[in-house]
Amino acid sequence: MEKNNLIDEFYALVQVDDADGHYAQDIKDSDYFGMPLKAIVKAEKRLRLKSERCIAYFSMEYGLATSCYNKLSSQLPLNPSNRVPENAVFSNFRVADYFFALHQDNIIDLPIYSGGLGVLAGDTVKTMADYKLPVAAIGILWSSGYFRQKFWFKYGQAPEKMRWDPHTYPGLIPLKNRIKISLKSEDVYLRLWKYYVYSQALDAVVPLILLDSNIEPNSQNARNLTDQLYRSDNIFLKLLQRVMLGFGGVSALKDLGYHIDTYHLNEGHAVFAFIAQARGMSKDELENLKSKFVYTCHTPVEAGHDRFSFEDLNKVLKPEDTEIIEKFGKERSGAANLTLLSMNISSAINAVSHSHQKVMHIQFPDYKDQIQYVTNGVHAYTWMSRGFQELFNKFPATFPDFKSNPMILSRATELKADADFRARLWQAHQSNKTDLCKFLEKWKLDKNIFTICWARRMAAYKRPSLILYDISRLARIADKIGPLQIILAGKAHPNDNLGFTYINEMLDKVDKLNVDYDKLKIIVLENYDIFLGKLLSSSVDVWLNNPLPPFEASGTSGMKAILNGVLQMSTVDGWVAEATDRKMGAFFGYKNSEGSVGNESDLHMPDDSEELYRALEGMVSLYYKTNSRGKVDINSGWIDMMIECVCVAGQFNTYRMVDEYKQKIWKIA
Ligand SMILES: *Cc1c(COP(=O)(O)O)cnc(C)c1O
Repeated sequence: MEKNNLIDEFYALVQVDDADGHYAQDIKDSDYFGMPLKAIVKAEKRLRLKSERCIAYFSMEYGLATSCYNKLSSQLPLNPSNRVPENAVFSNFRVADYFFALHQDNIIDLPIYSGGLGVLAGDTVKTMADYKLPVAAIGILWSSGYFRQKFWFKYGQAPEKMRWDPHTYPGLIPLKNRIKISLKSEDVYLRLWKYYVYSQALDAVVPLILLDSNIEPNSQNARNLTDQLYRSDNIFLKLLQRVMLGFGGVSALKDLGYHIDTYHLNEGHAVFAFIAQARGMSKDELENLKSKFVYTCHTPVEAGHDRFSFEDLNKVLKPEDTEIIEKFGKERSGAANLTLLSMNISSAINAVSHSHQKVMHIQFPDYKDQIQYVTNGVHAYTWMSRGFQELFNKFPATFPDFKSNPMILSRATELKADADFRARLWQAHQSNKTDLCKFLEKWKLDKNIFTICWARRMAAYKRPSLILYDISRLARIADKIGPLQIILAGKAHPNDNLGFTYINEMLDKVDKLNVDYDKLKIIVLENYDIFLGKLLSSSVDVWLNNPLPPFEASGTSGMKAILNGVLQMSTVDGWVAEATDRKMGAFFGYKNSEGSVGNESDLHMPDDSEELYRALEGMVSLYYKTNSRGKVDINSGWIDMMIECVCVAGQFNTYRMVDEYKQKIWKIA
C-alpha cells in the first residue's frame, strides 16, 4: 500500500511527459531507474516548503560522472547513440598508421559538460546531496553536448558534433512543463527535463533541472540555442545561451513551485537570473533581491569575463531588461560586463582559491572587501579508484568513515611507519597502473616504467607542450636515468586558435620523434573526458600540472590524483599554492610577483621547461631507486610522498569546500 502511495506522490509532484509510457518500466513501485524513489519524493516536497532555506545552484555545465558514479539503470536496451564511441590514440609507437581505436562498451556520461567548471559543479551537487541540503540545480540540456575531439593526421584537432539521445538516457526524464521567455522580437519556449543526483547513501537527491529549447513552436534559430555548449561563433548565440540559463532557470523554479532562498551563480553566465526578477523593482526591493544572490568567479583569465555591447543587448532584450544591466553592469569602456554585473548584484562573492582571490583583488580593487575565497575540491568518492577504497577499508581504525568523511584521509600520516600499509598502498597503485596498461594494451606500456601524465584543457596558460619543449632533453633523461612513458590529452575550445596550434605542435613533435620507443613512449589520447580523467589521474605515477601563475584559478585534476596516491609535479598556482609545504612531489617554475597579475601571453617556456626537466630528473631517479624492474623499496621516500598525497586529499575535497560555502557564502551553517 505504502509503495503505491509513493509512486502516486511522485507523479503528483513531477509532471513526467511520457505519452508512450516507456518510462513506466523504469519508474515503478518504489524504484526510480534502480534507485530509491523515496529520496525523490522527499526532496521534491522539501523544495516547496517556505520553512526551508532552499538554494538554486546555476551552472552552464555539469560533469556528473553518471557512467561511473551512482549509475542509474534502465530496463530498456542501451541506445547505441548513448554508447561510448571509439577513441583513437596517436603515439610515436608506429604501428598501423599511428592510430589504434580503443573500444569501451559503456554508456556515455551525460554530455552536458566541457571540463573543469562542469566537473566542479557535478562534484558540488553530489556533495550537497550527501549533506541532504535542499537544493535545485539548474543547467541546460545540450542536445549536441560539447564536441567530440578527433585527431586528423597533419591537421590536428577536428571537432565533431556529438549525437546522443536524451529520451533513453537512464534517469533523465522530460517534463510536461513549458516555460516562455520573452525576448524583444520573439518568444522562446523551453521544455524542462530532470535528472536526479543521488547521495552516496542513496537517501537524498538534488534534482537537476535542464532547459531545452529544441521544441515546437520555436524558430530554428531558437531551437539551436541549447544545441552546443560554449558555441561562441556568433555573439547572439553566446548572449542568448546566457539569457536562457538565467531567465529560463528562474521561470522553471517558479513553474515547479520551488521556494528559493539563495541563488548561487557560477560564473557570470547565470546572472540573467537576477535581471529576470529585478524588473520594475523599487530600491528596497532590489536590495532585498541582492541579499539572495551569491556569485562564484572561476577564472582569472581575461577571456573568461563575458562582455557584450549595449547595441547587441538592445537588439535581443527588452528595454526594461537592458536598463537593469546598464545600472549594475556597465563598465568604463561602455560595455556590459557580466563579471561586474554579478559582483554588483550579489551579497557574497568568492574566488576559488587563495591565489585566485589575490588576483581578483588586483583586478577588482573596488570589491576587495567583498571578495572572499573558497578553495575548490573534488568529490572524493567519485574520483577514488576502487583499489584505494579497498585499501582504506583494510585500515578501519585509521579511516573509519572515509566515504562519508574524506577529511579523515589526513590521518594517513599515522600510517607512515606501518610497513603493511606502505606495501598495500604500493600494490593498490600498481594495480591501478595495470588497468591503465590494459586499456592501452597495444602500446605495451610497462607498469614498472615511470609514467607521467598531462591531461587538461588545451589552453595557452596551461602550457600543454611544456614537457615537449626540448624533446632531445627528454630523450637524454630516458637514456641516462631511465625510460619514460608520457601521456597527454586535452581538448581545445573549437574557437581557440592557440589551443588548436598546441595540439598540432604536440602531434607534430610526436610524429617526428626519432627515439627508441622502449625508452621514450609518448601517447596522445583523443577526446579527454571524465572517463579518461578518472582513469589517468588514478593510475599514473606522476600528475603534471604546469599552468603559468597566476592564471589557474584552482585546478582540480591534481586533487583527483592525490586521492589515489599519485605524486605531483606542479608549478605554484591555484590550489597547489596552498599546499607547497607538503611533500607531494616537486614544485617548480616561474612565480608572478605579489601585487601584479603579469602577462598572460609571456609563457616563460625556455626557463620553465628547464626547471621542469630538472624536477623530472629528480623524480625519475627517485622512482627507479624505489621500483627497480618490479623490485620495490618499501621504505623509499617516494612512498612517504604517496602517503602525504593521501593526507592532503583530506583537505582538498568538496566536503571541506561545501562546509565553507555553508559558512561564508550561503550562511546556513
Ligand atoms: C577534472 C577534470 C578537469 C579539470 O581539471 P583541471 O586540473 O582543473 O584542469 C577537466 N576535464 C575533465 C574531463 C576532468 O575530469
